[in-house]
Amino acid sequence: MPRVYNFSAGPAVLPEDVLKTAANEMLDYNGSGESVMEMSHRSKEYEDIHNGCISLLREIMSIPDNYRILILQGGAHAQFDMIPLNLMKNGRADFVVTGQWAGKAYTEAKRYGEANLIASSKDKTFSYIPELDSSKFNKDADYFHICYNNTIYGTRYSKIPETGSVPLVADMSSCILSEPVDVSKYGMIYACAQKNVGPAGVTFVIIREDLIREFGTDSNVPTMYQYKVHADNNSLYNTPPTYGIYICKLVLDWVKSKGGLTAIKEHNEKKAAILYDFLDGSKLFKAPAEKESRSMMNVTFVTGSDELDGKFIKEAKAKGFINLKGHRSVGGMRASIYNAMPLEGVEKLVAFMKEFEENN
Ligand SMILES: *Cc1c(COP(=O)(O)O)cnc(C)c1O
Repeated sequence: MPRVYNFSAGPAVLPEDVLKTAANEMLDYNGSGESVMEMSHRSKEYEDIHNGCISLLREIMSIPDNYRILILQGGAHAQFDMIPLNLMKNGRADFVVTGQWAGKAYTEAKRYGEANLIASSKDKTFSYIPELDSSKFNKDADYFHICYNNTIYGTRYSKIPETGSVPLVADMSSCILSEPVDVSKYGMIYACAQKNVGPAGVTFVIIREDLIREFGTDSNVPTMYQYKVHADNNSLYNTPPTYGIYICKLVLDWVKSKGGLTAIKEHNEKKAAILYDFLDGSKLFKAPAEKESRSMMNVTFVTGSDELDGKFIKEAKAKGFINLKGHRSVGGMRASIYNAMPLEGVEKLVAFMKEFEENN
């Protein structure tokens, strides 16, 4: 069976070169005679992979020295709790709800303190990023949370909120490594790996050092939920997801070999433009996300008929374009075009969409 074009929102397509390298090294990593999966996480070989992954991420994203990179587990969901547990020192934070993930971060935070809803785009099924009125921001909030790219609805911020001295915290699960980011504008950035970095089971946290709080032994914050514990132990407090981290490192090597984030962004912009240009000219397909808020990674579209949507998804699958079904909460279609989706995959998808439009 030839490789399909996989438009899944996550777990998602990985660079073929990375998969081939992993396959070649499966039984014997770098002359060690063992698979990375079998290695002690305290071995020299693994330590090099672990530290290599962290230093490559720092280099590629130009992460300043006063930020720590943590490799954690529990997906982005665990962060919805870890963030308030660690950052809500005074018990309040601000939230913008632009979709399901932003909504979950907001709802979870309510367990720990006052979560203020600054704006929401729920009124129009999260099809846009709301204009933010900074006079409504709470000056004494412990942090201000946004979901930068809304995987389900296909929207993303085109400018970030000006939060002054309040640390901006961003969920970048579905857009990390898709373009350069000025990390210094954020207090913390987090992302699960399975969209644009690697396999599921790895979560990256990039956090400004001064936000890492120390808890006493009498604290009821679980040890595994304290950033300080992971920071102090170089994310080796317990057994990390070693194989997943190894794959992430291979992907980071690949990103670097492609010319880094500036080159990657250019490539991603090209891919997204091919799809959006087609959608804008189409009589059959429509893109529900507002133009100014369009995601570069997740392109949502509909025909307006559930029956035709279903037919499209089915016929596309038969042609080797898989996972085009939109999220179960919104329906329609979604093409996730992460870094590893080749330009050719998008071109062929659009050619198929044209053909489908002519026939229907
Ligand atoms: C996928 C995704 C999540 C959920 O990630 P899990 O690893 O399943 O917890 C959260 N936020 C965003 C933006 C996502 O794309």
